[in-house]
This record gives sequence, C-alpha cells and structure tokens, in this order.
Amino acid sequence: MDNEKVEVMQIPFDKLTQKELLKHLYKRIEKNQRTFIVTANPEIVMQTRIDHIYKESVQSADYIIPDGAGIVVASKILGNPIEERVTGFDLMFRLLSYADKHNLSCYFLGATEEVNERAVNHVMSQYPGIVIAGRHNGYFTNDEEVAEHVAATKPDFVFAALGFPKQEKWIAAHQHLFEKGVLMGVGGVFDILAGQVSRAPRIWIKLNLEWAYRLVKQPFRWKRILKAFEFMFRIVLGRNKNKAGS
Ligand code: UDP
Repeated sequence: MDNEKVEVMQIPFDKLTQKELLKHLYKRIEKNQRTFIVTANPEIVMQTRIDHIYKESVQSADYIIPDGAGIVVASKILGNPIEERVTGFDLMFRLLSYADKHNLSCYFLGATEEVNERAVNHVMSQYPGIVIAGRHNGYFTNDEEVAEHVAATKPDFVFAALGFPKQEKWIAAHQHLFEKGVLMGVGGVFDILAGQVSRAPRIWIKLNLEWAYRLVKQPFRWKRILKAFEFMFRIVLGRNKNKAGS
C-alpha cells in the first residue's frame, strides 16, 4: 500500500514519523530491497524548480522525507499536515545504530579525503559492529567508475555526503547498479562526524532555528537561507491564490 503523501511544489513528501519510517526501512532491509531516501529541505525543493534533472532525481526516490521545519509548516499551510520533521542527521544515526547491532556494512562516500577518513574512524570507534564496506572522498570526476566500485562492495547502506544536488543526482543515476541497500544523501554530516563543524545546540533545533545557527557559523550560506525564505513566501502566496480561485 502506498504511504500517505503531501505534494509540496510537486515533490511528494511521505507523511511518516521517524518511527514509522524506520519500521519501513528495517522491513525493506530484511527483504534485501534497495531503498533510495531523499531528506529534503526548502532549499532542495527550490532547486528542483530550476533543475529538471534534479527534480526527476528527487522524484525517483522511494521515500522523500521532510528535513526542514519549513516543509512541515508548508504542509500545514497546504492543509495536509506532516506530523513531524525527520532530519537526515537523526535518521543516519538511527541507521548506524541498527547497522551496528546487526553487523551490517556501510559505505561512506563524500567530503574531502581528510574529513572522510576522520568521519569513518569516528564511526568505527563508536559503532564497532559496523562492517566498513569502503570509503571514498567526494571529489571525483568519473561518477560511473566510483558508482561501480561502491556497488561492487554490496553495501547494506551507502551514505553519500556530496552536498545537494550532486548526491541525489549521483544516487538516482546509479541506483540500478545496487541490488540492495539503503542509499541516502547526507549533506554535510561527515564534517560533523569528523568534528569539523558542530551541529546546532538542542535548544536551537527545538525552536526550529537550526538554519539561523548555521548562518551565524557559516555566513557564506546567506544566499541559501534566502532561498528558504522565498520558499515560504511562495507557499503562502500559492495558498492565497487557491483561496481567491475557490
Ligand atoms: N562535497 C563533496 N563533493 C563535492 C561537493 C561537496 O564531497 O563535489 C562535500 C563537502 O565536502 C561537504 C558536503 O559535501 O562535506 C556538503 O556539505 P553541506 O553542508 O554544504 O551539505 P548540503 O547542505 O549541501 O546538503
């Protein structure tokens, strides 16, 4: 049976809590199914409006998860509310714990060589039950070759930390090479695992102000934050239009 979804700017988000999503994923892992997950925030949705290949890549995912308070707010404005935000960050850690417990294998693709190595070392020390299928930095030119190499390790999980839109495009274009495994883009998570960047303190996250924390820490992101504001603006305007039209 299909999950309930809400379309936000033609991107169909799954209306699942983290707990429900994990249940789905564990079942699919047990059945050796392949699963492509996109954790999308307002910036990602905005990018799909201007990049057709990216839009198709995101739409080809098995699950599209609301990683951003803006998506949850938008779903409410659109009258089809999502219950909770499910962050890619938290999801990845849940999956690492699961892999640890069941001795599953993980491939870590992305970030600079130094960050990648440090992130994988951190995972090995925190999750000794995980089998490291392999690791590769995210600065490669031959997508095909890297994809074939990753697929040949037959990983149970592929965490692609290439930033968007690269990570989703890479997964979408090469997912057919994988018979099984959870394939997921995780953005800057390796930088956090490597201790390079810190995540916002809990209170900022609780108050839905993680974006503001990142802006303070990494001011070069201001253009991206503007996109998130444009997203909200468009959602609100769209609602007004519907009202006028009905
Ligand atoms: N990155 C990469 N290859 C690239 C571009 C970026 O591996 O060609 C990595 C980069 O080193 C960083 C991550 O992708 O670790 C992007 O982090 P960011 O916080 O910008 O993630 P986003 O918010 O774009 O998902």
